[in-house]
Amino acid sequence: MTADDLLARHRAVLPSWMTLYYAEPIELVSGQGRRVTDARGRTYLDFFGGVLTNSLGYDIAEVREAVQRQLATGIVHTSTLYLIRQQVELAEKVARLSGIPDARVFFTNSGSEANEAALLVATNHRRSHQILAVRNSYHGRTYATMGATGNRTWSPTSINPLQVAWLHSGDRLRGLLARLPEADRVDAAAEDLREVLATQTSGDVACLIAEPIQGVGGFVHGPDGLFAAWKKILDEHGILLISDEVQTGWGRTGEHFWGYQAHGVTPDLLTFAKGIGNGFALAGVVGRAEVLDSVSGISFSTFGGNPISTAAGNAVLDYLLAHDLQANAARVGRILGDGLRAAVAELDRVGEVRGKGLMLGVEFVHPGTGAPDAALTTRIFEACREGGLLTGKGGLYGNVLRMGPPLTLTEEEAREGLAILVDAIRSGVAAAHP
Ligand code: PMP
Repeated sequence: MTADDLLARHRAVLPSWMTLYYAEPIELVSGQGRRVTDARGRTYLDFFGGVLTNSLGYDIAEVREAVQRQLATGIVHTSTLYLIRQQVELAEKVARLSGIPDARVFFTNSGSEANEAALLVATNHRRSHQILAVRNSYHGRTYATMGATGNRTWSPTSINPLQVAWLHSGDRLRGLLARLPEADRVDAAAEDLREVLATQTSGDVACLIAEPIQGVGGFVHGPDGLFAAWKKILDEHGILLISDEVQTGWGRTGEHFWGYQAHGVTPDLLTFAKGIGNGFALAGVVGRAEVLDSVSGISFSTFGGNPISTAAGNAVLDYLLAHDLQANAARVGRILGDGLRAAVAELDRVGEVRGKGLMLGVEFVHPGTGAPDAALTTRIFEACREGGLLTGKGGLYGNVLRMGPPLTLTEEEAREGLAILVDAIRSGVAAAHP
């Protein structure tokens, strides 16, 4: 079967709203290290799969063997009605690493489900369905998480089970906070929160859910200290803070293990997903026992924390700690980030190069007006693929190129990918001029 046959069959049977990357969508059939090969035999350096799913990269022997050992036991009964050793072990590790005191962990199968659980716990704990969320956020594709998603492209329904009041994001290019001097932005965000609480809520609010770096939103992040300024006000009202670490967790930002740590504050609930399974369905929510235990009625999960996924999760976590991949993200991320900033930040169609560690974005704009340029972004995104590099796209206006390679990326691979990126960006920008 050719890739084209598969595409036609995909289009015929899967929902029309399922996004496929690239004008000529690709089917990945094998992977090794940081490289993936498609059905046509083309191999790519992967600068996006790391933040999406494969935090360690592809065909990691330790993960493969841990899953094979689990499969070999014949125990594929997955439900939480029986003790699962791998699950308890992983929960202990995640609780310890979370930074949350007296932490408990509930495993789910996806980030959406983890946020759904966090929102359920918070609204139940506080007996309120009013929440705060951030503009340009993405929290998942379930009913409540879509309701908490501040981007209509990703949240098509107007029916929301939650009553949501929206805070400004820390975006440096767009929105009200963008127009302020750097030194004033944290204070302005705090004022925004106070005003939103006073004007758009009864004051009886369950929680604020926020991403330390907005993933789907185009790697937008506010100034360090933003969460702390918010939390100070939230605490005055007993409102819980949920840090959605689905993209920022496990050392990806380099400077910290979790994104929230840049802000010098600890959330009440933290959600994780994606990279912890390195391809296996594994996610969850961590929270103080007082909060997480306050809900009764979520007593069971068929697949959440199943022995195969948690076997993978334990192997992934052990690997990333043993190899200090957070330090690698900082070191190799600096090479990539500094290289990008030096080579393209001054181009008139580049609005901003931003991000931390191995989570880096480039926003493309029209010169002069600063209006988003999605068409240029798409051309550069396609050119990267043609050059042998997979990247991501994102942002409210689809004008941000996103880089989230596996945390195992080497210095040589960073330089190799950087050369392809810079070439694609420079040629794209040059061709965009009249
Ligand atoms: N939160 C964030 C920050 C995400 O980036 C995503 C996925 N893009 C989700 C939640 C939802 O995770 P999943 O796709 O595993 O449901």
